Amino acid sequence: MDHKRDDLSHILTHLGEDRERGFDAVVPPIVQSGNFTYATVAEMRRTVQHEFDRPLYTRGYNPTVAMVRRKVAALEHAEDALLFSSGSAAIAAGVIGMVKAGDHIVCVHKPYSWTRKLLVELLARFDVGHTFVDGTDAENYRRAIRPNTTLFITESPNSLTFELQDLAAIAAIAKENGILTLCDNSFNSPLFQNPIDLGIDMVAHSATKYLNGHSDVVAGVLAGSAKHMRQVMARELMTLGAAPSPHDAWLLMRGLRTLELRVNRSADSAAQVARFLEAHPRVKRVHWPGLESHPQHALAKRQMKRVAGLMTIELDAPDEEAVERFCDSLRTFLIAVSWGGYESLQWPVCALKGPSGYYTDLPFTMVRLYIGLEDPAMLIADLENALARM
Ligand SMILES: *Cc1c(COP(=O)(O)O)cnc(C)c1O
Repeated sequence: MDHKRDDLSHILTHLGEDRERGFDAVVPPIVQSGNFTYATVAEMRRTVQHEFDRPLYTRGYNPTVAMVRRKVAALEHAEDALLFSSGSAAIAAGVIGMVKAGDHIVCVHKPYSWTRKLLVELLARFDVGHTFVDGTDAENYRRAIRPNTTLFITESPNSLTFELQDLAAIAAIAKENGILTLCDNSFNSPLFQNPIDLGIDMVAHSATKYLNGHSDVVAGVLAGSAKHMRQVMARELMTLGAAPSPHDAWLLMRGLRTLELRVNRSADSAAQVARFLEAHPRVKRVHWPGLESHPQHALAKRQMKRVAGLMTIELDAPDEEAVERFCDSLRTFLIAVSWGGYESLQWPVCALKGPSGYYTDLPFTMVRLYIGLEDPAMLIADLENALARM
């Protein structure tokens, strides 16, 4: 890894792009090839022995994908990173890669819904147990440890109710007990929080969200030590095969060019929107760690550089019809899942009681809002109008 010039601008604009090997094009070409060829048998033999960092077959190594791997590793202060065809694939590979039958995982409660399903519906079938804990007290992780606990999963904050975990404290408990740690850092992007600096072993992102940022790619990344990444690549990535396409990797690299501009804009606007909503009489509560009223605001200030642009509000609404009136009245917030793109979105809890396994115990008054790149004054005016119509 090139740690000599790992400042943000260098990473996003130049690191790992090997322009001299791509016809000196300013924008690296997309190596849209599944396969690679060798002049001699000896050369092929050498490559086979270094499949981890030389092109042999695109499921394992592709030069376009490799450029993004270097950038993401540098962004997360990790030795290496892997790219996957989705965030869920990255999380699943990282988790499956660190456990075997008979092991036990401690996970924060209400993690991303498919992380919960991974534990409850998939790994349980292979005799890997789990305990969900309230992560607002790091000691709950210690209390849940069993002799066979091998992994702690964190997601700070989670992307629905925005509860934080003290990552340094949890990482220290894990180290004392020989347990590995993984953090889903999608909410923060690598700009606002770096879990590896806090002692966490592995970081996962849904690159679908802030990293790509244009709502046109589904992808994921996993970052960590060279040893762990090599292990996950040789086993989970190669066998489960959730490799990204070179074209998606290239789009992700294009998205990264503006990462700094986008996440800061989203966070700036979110602060304005959150303050407006908190002061509005028809809004009961705003779940956003950047507000002084958030119960873990002090931890957020200590652990995160900034607070990103996703929040959940609880409306002062008597019934689901009123929530629907609010949502249907919003003009600029598109009704959709996901987040992290250029466009603002709304995600009403009352619409999501389907097989995706979202949390049915959440109040029907909850609406998650993603604050995109539009003029924040326009977003606030839209919210004001919809609240009046509720
Ligand atoms: C979207 C998301 C995921 C899953 O990522 P995909 O790219 O959709 O597979 C995981 N964790 C969080 C916090 C997410 O928001």
